[in-house]
Amino acid sequence: MNESAMEHHLLCQRRILAEFGERAVIGEDLDAILQAACKGAGEALETNLAKFIQIDADKRQMWVRSGVGWTDGIVGHTQLELEPGTPEWYSLSVDHPVISQSTARENRFTLHPFQHENRVDAFVNVIVHLPHDRRPIGIFEVDSRTPRAFSDSDVDFLRSYASLIAACFERFRITDALKQAEAKLRESERRLRRAVELNPQIPWTADANGAVTSIDGRWAEFSGREHEETMGQGWRDFTHPEDMPTIIRQWGESLASLTPFDVQVRLQKKSGKYEWYQVRAFPELDESGHCQQWYGTVEDISERVRLEASLRDWNDNLESRISERTRQLQEEQREREAAEAKLRQSQKMEAVGQLTGGIAHDFNNLLGSISASLELMQLRIAAGRVADIGKYQTLALTSVKRAAALTGRLLAFSRQQPLDPKIIDPNEVVAGLEDMIRRTMGPDVVVRCDLSSVGCINCDTNQLENALLNLAINARDAMSAGGTLTLRTQRLDIDARTGKDKEMQPGPYVLISVTDDGCGMTEDVLRRAFDPFFTTKKIGQGTGLGLSMIYGFTQQSGGQIRIHSTVNVGTTISMYFPLDKRSADNALGALDEVTSLPSNTGNGEVILVVDDETGLREIAVELLTDQGYAPYEAIDSASALRQFEKLDKLDLLITDIGLPGAVNGLALAKTLKAQCPELKILFITGYANAEGITEGLSLGKVLSKPFSVSELSDHVRSALASEAAEQVNRREP
Ligand code: ADP
Ligand code: MG
Repeated sequence: MNESAMEHHLLCQRRILAEFGERAVIGEDLDAILQAACKGAGEALETNLAKFIQIDADKRQMWVRSGVGWTDGIVGHTQLELEPGTPEWYSLSVDHPVISQSTARENRFTLHPFQHENRVDAFVNVIVHLPHDRRPIGIFEVDSRTPRAFSDSDVDFLRSYASLIAACFERFRITDALKQAEAKLRESERRLRRAVELNPQIPWTADANGAVTSIDGRWAEFSGREHEETMGQGWRDFTHPEDMPTIIRQWGESLASLTPFDVQVRLQKKSGKYEWYQVRAFPELDESGHCQQWYGTVEDISERVRLEASLRDWNDNLESRISERTRQLQEEQREREAAEAKLRQSQKMEAVGQLTGGIAHDFNNLLGSISASLELMQLRIAAGRVADIGKYQTLALTSVKRAAALTGRLLAFSRQQPLDPKIIDPNEVVAGLEDMIRRTMGPDVVVRCDLSSVGCINCDTNQLENALLNLAINARDAMSAGGTLTLRTQRLDIDARTGKDKEMQPGPYVLISVTDDGCGMTEDVLRRAFDPFFTTKKIGQGTGLGLSMIYGFTQQSGGQIRIHSTVNVGTTISMYFPLDKRSADNALGALDEVTSLPSNTGNGEVILVVDDETGLREIAVELLTDQGYAPYEAIDSASALRQFEKLDKLDLLITDIGLPGAVNGLALAKTLKAQCPELKILFITGYANAEGITEGLSLGKVLSKPFSVSELSDHVRSALASEAAEQVNRREP
């Protein structure tokens, strides 16, 4: 090559390099740039055959990415292994431009088949390194189909060319990274935007002095204020005047102490209405602890505040509703208690009502004794026989005491009293009631008390008395033809097995039972006896509440009640009360005994006085003795008959119609009259029972209780006189 040709060649190379340089800097498409690079290099080295082989990042694979002058199907398709023996492996291992002037004589490496196919005979190549890390990314090669030499300037040209290609790769790498970063940034901004939009808290910032520097656009929508209006201290214009002091004070404190700021204030909305907002901010501090700026949020909490307010209202109302309901319940409870108390009282009054018949009769007897004693005293005083009037005084006083005790009991019993469980001795209660029950049962029922030392129980005395009276009345009703009523107290220990049978807790108990030998209960009655309002009695005679009340009472007292009943044999109602352990050894208190008066005997007409009322009987005997009769006395029919057997004669029988035991006064009179037809009879009775009196009048005379001593003496006289006119009253021995 001559000098001018050489110069032209170099100029041409410089031009091509310059053109490519421009392209490499501004080109948008890497493949187009590479393609242009191959074309330019082929031209510059006058072979028109060039290629760029790109090496994969793992340095095991390569491919012909660009090229000119090659047969079809090679550029963009040919994949090569980066193996020892290949020209590229050789170039990389020497890390230097490689020139092969004639490949036919080459022994450093073996050409690839595609190079043979394209009759490559000579080439020069350079390695393209990435500028920032010197990593080889490809090999740029100019090939020749004829053997030839390559000058130093050719190699320099290719080196410059490779640098431009490398710079171009670098440019694309950086641009790609930038694009990716940009895309990522855009994506994260988009997400952030969305998050901000979804977040009810609107962000704002303020400088270190507290002047607002930015606020999210949504605030303008809320407030209807331009962005600028809110900046700096603008927020003061739409803060509720009442909340200003709070917000100013707190904001001032936070600014001074660099502590988070958090207030709930009313801010004015676009509509002009104030709504509740929560405003928060925290300071961003630099390394030396100075405030850079404040990050804050403002959040519409009006809905929450409204909900809280209504919740508070609801709670307040709830409290008043609860207290109202509690008051109602207490009221209902009071009403119920009052109704229960009334029921108890009426139940008691019913029992009292049932008692009154018996009590009235009894009162008559007592009044009779008292007035008779007083009369006798009067007679004695008149006759100047004052020595023995003390006896009558005692008799009268005894009767007065008994009457007083009876009224006291009756009053105490009828009085309305609240439930008041106490430790009590059941024997005292039974003994205290015994008299009243006996008097109530009427003459046909014998009352027995079988009390043993039992200890104490914990229950309401009044209720226990009520229960006993009700049971006694039930028993009386079941013994219409008379019988025996037994009140019994007993101490018993219930062991585990018995407890299971009786469905009771094992332990010590006091058993109080009421037994009668009356009609008993059928299966059906027994099953329903405790049901409230269950009664087999006629209207007016039973309410059906007695047993159910007693059931409730025993349960309330921690006890149990059981019925044993057999038709036509009798019934026992057993009340079990747990023994009060503290007083288990308490002994039975002494029972009041009625003082008996001695009986007198005398001469004259023989008179037999039969009455179970001792006081009355004794007064009568006293009177008759005084008056010169020969009186004998008997407590009931059985003893009257025995007495009669012992007498030589009997002139007059004075008898109570209602007598304890199986035989009453009328029957006794009939029996005696049958044996002694001339016998005179005088009935005394406290029952205004028409039947009894009519029947009595057919046999003799009737004197109603209470009567005075003189009435009695008159009746005795007239009874004896009236019949004396008819016959001689002497019984044949
Ligand atoms: P009331 O006496 O008002 O009928 P109670 O509850 O006291 O109500 O008794 C319910 C029923 O149980 C009675 O009507 C009667 O049939 C029966 N009863 C109660 N006690 C006895 C008893 N001792 N003997 C027979 N039956 C009884
Ligand atoms: Mg009853």
